[in-house]
Amino acid sequence: MGGRQVTSGQGSDWQDMRVTVAGLGVSGISAARALTALGASVIVVDGGDSDAHRERAAALEGIEVRLGDAETLPEGTELVVTSPGWKPSSPLFAAAAEAGVDVVGDVEIAWRLRGPHAAPWLAITGTNGKTTTTQMLASILRAAGLRTAAVGNIGTPIIDVVQEGDDAYDVLAVELSSYQLHWAPSLRAHSAAVLNLAPDHLDWHGSMEAYAADKGRIYEGNRVACVYNVDATDKPSTEDLVREADVEEGCRAVGFTLGAPGPSQLGVVEGILVDRAFVENRQQNAQELAEVSDVSPPAPHNIANALAAAALARAFGVPAKAVRDGLRAFTPDAHRIAHVADVDGVAYVDDSKATNTHAAEASLAAYESIVWIAGGLAKGATFDELVTKSAKRLRGVVLIGADRALIGEALARHAPEVPVVDLDRTDTGAMLAAVQEARRLAAAGDTVLLAPACASMDMFTNYNKRGDAFAHAVRELGAGT
Ligand code: ADP
Repeated sequence: MGGRQVTSGQGSDWQDMRVTVAGLGVSGISAARALTALGASVIVVDGGDSDAHRERAAALEGIEVRLGDAETLPEGTELVVTSPGWKPSSPLFAAAAEAGVDVVGDVEIAWRLRGPHAAPWLAITGTNGKTTTTQMLASILRAAGLRTAAVGNIGTPIIDVVQEGDDAYDVLAVELSSYQLHWAPSLRAHSAAVLNLAPDHLDWHGSMEAYAADKGRIYEGNRVACVYNVDATDKPSTEDLVREADVEEGCRAVGFTLGAPGPSQLGVVEGILVDRAFVENRQQNAQELAEVSDVSPPAPHNIANALAAAALARAFGVPAKAVRDGLRAFTPDAHRIAHVADVDGVAYVDDSKATNTHAAEASLAAYESIVWIAGGLAKGATFDELVTKSAKRLRGVVLIGADRALIGEALARHAPEVPVVDLDRTDTGAMLAAVQEARRLAAAGDTVLLAPACASMDMFTNYNKRGDAFAHAVRELGAGT
């Protein structure tokens, strides 16, 4: 056995190549179909063997699928295409390494399938805010009259989008997870942003250094701008990642900040989003882009997302007016600081997507007086820093879920005066009870904020269902008044 090199383009490189696709999920199915259509000989492997797996396998007519064995590398494999979730330590990859076979992901395949005149990519990663920022960017690009799509970790599988042909888009807004970046060694974006960097997915990457290094890959080979977060100074900072990247001659480092911007930065001055990077004579000039109130929701972390999206759009030559129009036209996806209702002067906000402490910290920073509903699966997180930083804003806390004691202990240590209701229930009615307790703790003018800082799977199918349960409970509350 032995690997084979594939260069970019849709040409004959794939003909008869023996490709193993690891994982029968959305991206694996898309890769298997695309590479088969290009003449490759594809086998899909997956460790699962449930009815759902069999159904998906049956739908892949004409493509061989091996279920129930995720470890054996099929004889003769020349390239492995992995789904993003598979850990680098998976035995299949050890077998590939031993056989001298490359392992790449769906993003790498998409990149290699681009034709010579394909739309450039504006790429976004970060621990939190990726989806929101990518969608904001697409909205701005659309407002500029460009044909674009928000793709990557969201929307249509990126391989399918690239296969629409070089002429289908002017530019793509590409969300990339750290997993996808890990498996995409030859990706070269026009410009890219790392929004922020906090410990996450360390079980997958092995260490914070490895996680940061994978995120930093997004800057490799950038042509116009590497966009970094001026305000995020934890080490390694996103600016450190820019410094370490090997970029094209003339590519600039462009910062974004919630403060007043210096030269080569975008920032905020008296409620106005301002560009001092993509203007003539940036030592002296600044360009107004939009007002803070044009950003929805106008929470600080979301203003940062808007600045990052604006920086990438401006790097692509988009005029200031399109930034404003694009931001005004944007509405965030569900469960991301979604205002559900006001009941008795108390606002109820669903940020169920705040599944880690970094995200919860951002949404807690957006309100002055909060009854916080938190808890779920902690995924190894600690809560001391989050509680310390947020304590002064907490009117009260309602704890739910499997790991609620961890948050309870942090509250006892750092905010002993804050009333805490510990809800020892995991049944479907638990969220209603949580919302009722929150209402008891809240006073007019407060915000009841579901920002769990934890994953949802101990009580719900996913964060959507958790957010839906919250909204449902709030509506019941409203109906009862
Ligand atoms: P991702 O795609 O990275 O998961 P989302 O845009 O879906 O990010 O937002 C996920 C959650 O992260 C939101 O519900 C919000 O609580 C939080 N969040 C969004 N943007 C930021 C940011 N820039 N910094 C910190 N937290 C953020």
